[in-house]
Amino acid sequence: MTPMMKQYHEAKAACGDALLFFRMGDFYELFLDDAKVAAGILGLTLTSRDKDSDNPTAMAGFPHHQLDGYLHKLIRAGYRAAVCEQMEDPKTAKGLVKREVTRVVSAGTLTDDGLLDPRESNYVAAVCLIHDKKSGKTKGTPKTLAGIAWAELSSGRFEAGTFDVARIEDELARIGPAEVLYREDDSHFSPDTTAPWAWTSRPAWSFAEDTAKETLCKQFSVQSLDGFGFEDDDKASLRAAGAVLTYLQETQRRELTHFRSIASHRRTNFLQIDAATRRSLEITRTIRSGSREGSLLGVIDRTCTSMGSRLLGDWIAAPLIERDAIESRLDAISELVNDAKLRADIRDTLKRVFDLTRLMARIATQRTGPRDLVQVAQTLANLPALKARLTDRKSERLAFVEAHLHLCPELRSRLEKALSDECPINASEGNFIREGYDEELDTLRALAKGGKQWIAAYQKTQMDETGIPNIKVGYNKVFGFYLEVTNSHKDRVPDFFIRKQTLKNCERYITPELKEYEEKVLAADDNASMREQHLFMQLRTMTHNHLSTLQEVATAMAELDVLASQAEIAATRGWTRPVLTEDSVLRIEEGRHPVLDVTLPQGEFVPNDCIQSPEAGMIQLITGPNMAGKSTYIRQVALLTLMAQAGSFVPAKKAEIGIADRIFARVGASDELSRGQSTFMVEMVETARILNTATSRSLVILDEIGRGTSTYDGLSLAWAITEHLHEQIGCRTLFATHYHELTQLEETLPRVANLNVAVKEWNDEVIFLHRIVRGGADKSYGIHVARLAGIPLSVNERAKDVLAQLEADHRDALDRPTIQSPGASTSGQYQMTLFGFADHPLIGEVDKLDIDSMTPIEALQFLQSAKQSL
Ligand code: ADP
Repeated sequence: MTPMMKQYHEAKAACGDALLFFRMGDFYELFLDDAKVAAGILGLTLTSRDKDSDNPTAMAGFPHHQLDGYLHKLIRAGYRAAVCEQMEDPKTAKGLVKREVTRVVSAGTLTDDGLLDPRESNYVAAVCLIHDKKSGKTKGTPKTLAGIAWAELSSGRFEAGTFDVARIEDELARIGPAEVLYREDDSHFSPDTTAPWAWTSRPAWSFAEDTAKETLCKQFSVQSLDGFGFEDDDKASLRAAGAVLTYLQETQRRELTHFRSIASHRRTNFLQIDAATRRSLEITRTIRSGSREGSLLGVIDRTCTSMGSRLLGDWIAAPLIERDAIESRLDAISELVNDAKLRADIRDTLKRVFDLTRLMARIATQRTGPRDLVQVAQTLANLPALKARLTDRKSERLAFVEAHLHLCPELRSRLEKALSDECPINASEGNFIREGYDEELDTLRALAKGGKQWIAAYQKTQMDETGIPNIKVGYNKVFGFYLEVTNSHKDRVPDFFIRKQTLKNCERYITPELKEYEEKVLAADDNASMREQHLFMQLRTMTHNHLSTLQEVATAMAELDVLASQAEIAATRGWTRPVLTEDSVLRIEEGRHPVLDVTLPQGEFVPNDCIQSPEAGMIQLITGPNMAGKSTYIRQVALLTLMAQAGSFVPAKKAEIGIADRIFARVGASDELSRGQSTFMVEMVETARILNTATSRSLVILDEIGRGTSTYDGLSLAWAITEHLHEQIGCRTLFATHYHELTQLEETLPRVANLNVAVKEWNDEVIFLHRIVRGGADKSYGIHVARLAGIPLSVNERAKDVLAQLEADHRDALDRPTIQSPGASTSGQYQMTLFGFADHPLIGEVDKLDIDSMTPIEALQFLQSAKQSL
């Protein structure tokens, strides 16, 4: 093995399962299995190092400046990569160049601007399970607790909390990490590749309690973690936090001074939203494309900075339940809604600031250059105006922001004096310190420049003295400055010219005088750039010394941006301040769906009321044809509640919202099919969770429960579920259903109310009015909707005939099943009619159909054979 390959194998052994990018001159190379994997994913050409040997080494590589792009691609494909750099200049190195792995990059540890979406947080999380005997329900049976910690390298944010083991998925869905660490010997996790994050297994020691405490205390320079609000039963969360920090230290191999504390996440402070509800309501991502565009967050985001955009994402993902906390956000938004000029001034100023959070993280991890420092200065330059606009504000949050906009005048003036406006990204490029800032640098620069002038003068003297008209002065790396004389004047060259090189048309010479000056010029150039690097480090250190102050400024600006964004959308779209109460009620007047309100042309969205209270009914059953607007309506109610609790104004004329402890949405399940579970099973698992965990303060929205099974099964389940919600839980419920039979429940259950979506029939066509009205729907209009969807006219006409016939049969049918409702205390017995033609053999066949898995052709073929059998 060559010494270099030996060096490669040592580096490779130290970076675990990460693919190693090995710097060789101007290229990064991958070897052996890494090369094969990379060739496949990155589309690199696979070659080999010693082609003629029996056992050639596979190899693939690319030019060094393409590193970022390739790293990104590899990480998106779920891999981790280690970058091994040359630690000395190959030209001056003696023997083998020293190389070191400088960082390991994974999905959760990205910091490079080019690889991160500025509007999204990029967390690495860790999950640690522990069996806690003390908190088990019965003595001796341990309860499993899950500690989850999450941190963002590009901002220094760090949080941890302890959760019930059943909530792991829900919490991870809230956090939305890019990478999740788990203990290698933990059998609970079987990393599933459909998860939106990368799973990374980590050694058990990194999750140990002692290691965790020690690592965390050392990082935060404290003796104990009590001060961060962690209690005795938070062991699991601290162990997870220890694992995250160890991972960051190991992959970054440098100081992480921007992690200055860890926040304890108290689940009870936030509105609980499970993963399925989060997906169904499309809070931060759409179901279809998984993107931010088109989600609630995407539509309401009017922030001017990426700091604000990320914070708004946090607010929307984790709404509050404490009334005071919500009201203080609303107070600030009100103030900004009412003062359009103030709002506009704030937003204009915010448009000019940079992402101070990420700038400070780069400065803390020393991955920074002059341009970052200029951006800090330019951001600071905007603070006085912002602070002045915020003095004497009434609302508590605006006063808080004002108090945290620290102006840092000395830092700002030093950076402004030192750095020129157009600074390079990397300090190595040089020439970024302003003239007049540092005397020594100015002297060295003058010397370097003066030397060049001397050379110009020397060239002229030589031409005059030799009589050669076109002597040129040039420079190359091999012999420095030289004089060039064309062949036609070769005979006039004086003796003291020393010939160095002969080219086709000319000769190149040096002179002792030229060499002497050359040394001075080059030394001055070198010294100037060394001095410049030194000054840059000074400025960087000075900025770093302001880390905690500037992190506070960044947090305050982000909050101001979110408040102004929410005020802007409220003012421009005519949204209203919700009135919050502790009672389990909803009184929404002319509410609109926040996403459709913005995306549909102005005025096209039909507003609807929603009144829920013990008097007006806690459970509302919404019937009506497909496409009428049932799902839109029930989602709208859930979204308005969520927005109000996030401290936002809502699209409605008036809204009184009883603070909910949990929101559940059981809507559609098509997105789950890819995970290999049946629609029906997924639906029932989610419904079971609702029935087991909803409280009287929850808000539940259900859409079409029981679709994946036979009509009788589905209807019976929907019936029993409604009764349970009514009798046992008593929470606010909106239930959109196509089972018209359910509307009979209004007669027996006092807190059930029927609603339907108004439809107008006109010339044999249906017009959806999208207006929610009292009462149950009388027709389903399925055939009309099918026509709209493009079912051929002949099939549609035939369906109408069949329907008429079926309805006639139905009226004649005698055997009607009778259901005794346990909630029917006053009316006693009543009858529920299902299909009066249940004994027809075709019904059995229709029942067996799995509509979800049928193609339109199969459906038509079935219709045809059904018709033939009649
Ligand atoms: P359903 O659940 O009854 O099948 P949806 O809620 O999916 O119906 O709505 C069907 C379509 O009608 C949606 O594409 C939506 O754009 C439109 N829609 C729904 N509600 C309204 C409304 N209130 N105003 C205007 N358009 C609406």
